[in-house]
Amino acid sequence: METHETTAGLQLWIDAQRRAGNSIGFVPTMGNLHEGHLALVRAARQRCDTVVASIFVNPLQFGPGEDLQAYPHTPEEDRTLLLREECDALFLPGIAQMYGSALAEQTRIHVPGVSEGLCGASRPGHFDGVATIVCKLLNMVRPDRAYFGLKDYQQFLVVSKLVADLALPVTIEGVETVRDQHGLALSSRNNYLSGEQRAKATLLYQCLRECAAQVEAGNREFASLEQAAIQRLQDGEVRPDYFVIRSADTLKPVTPEDRRLVILAAAFVGPTRLIDNLRLELTHA
Ligand code: AMP
Repeated sequence: METHETTAGLQLWIDAQRRAGNSIGFVPTMGNLHEGHLALVRAARQRCDTVVASIFVNPLQFGPGEDLQAYPHTPEEDRTLLLREECDALFLPGIAQMYGSALAEQTRIHVPGVSEGLCGASRPGHFDGVATIVCKLLNMVRPDRAYFGLKDYQQFLVVSKLVADLALPVTIEGVETVRDQHGLALSSRNNYLSGEQRAKATLLYQCLRECAAQVEAGNREFASLEQAAIQRLQDGEVRPDYFVIRSADTLKPVTPEDRRLVILAAAFVGPTRLIDNLRLELTHA
């Protein structure tokens, strides 16, 4: 597996791949890789001739007081995992490579609509940071396809809209959430949880499942379903940030015409903020 720390080095290699007629799949990550990330690599491996992963902990998407400094950093383990998945290249840029010396003066991209509300409301500037780094990485790697996890569903919609609105020449692929045996969505932030907290955290997925089952059974009292889930989380010592049922296409409140729904949740277990979601399709009114 190639490792490139500079854009110039990466691009020389990518150009050679292109000249050889290889399609390029790209998996951007912040490292500390787990099976969720590896599912993206596998999806890219299946579909594309050449697979490039990146690891960059993007300061622009962390707010003041968030876990930028504490964010887990495991480059050697990550390399081993990527090698095992037959990833062809790892892009490992440093902060100066990505932002030069003036992070504050970096041009930023704001994706209106889907980036507002939910995690956008709780983490001001977060999705501008995400859109900016994703746009930049896509311009550096110039992949045919880029792979994103549906666990971060709002992020997936932000990236999809960014690519559509700016006519970026790439196809965005969403990959289903990978969970542990108790249903907890894998996340690098799960490392922060104690054993006891991990057990509590599984309540998030349970609440999503129960809510989805109610909706699928025909319950359309969305406000009371949301409220019941919030109460249940609180009772289980999981502090909800939000638990909402929305249109899966717009993230707006559900209208009678909507068929594709998503239940999105964010909650704190101790100081750790976790997110998860379930998407569902209504087959009857
Ligand atoms: P991160 O390193 O947390 O920025 O995540 C990098 C990519 O992996 C993003 O597209 C995430 O949505 C995706 N991802 C993270 N956790 C999971 C998971 N449990 N299942 C599927 N994809 C995931």
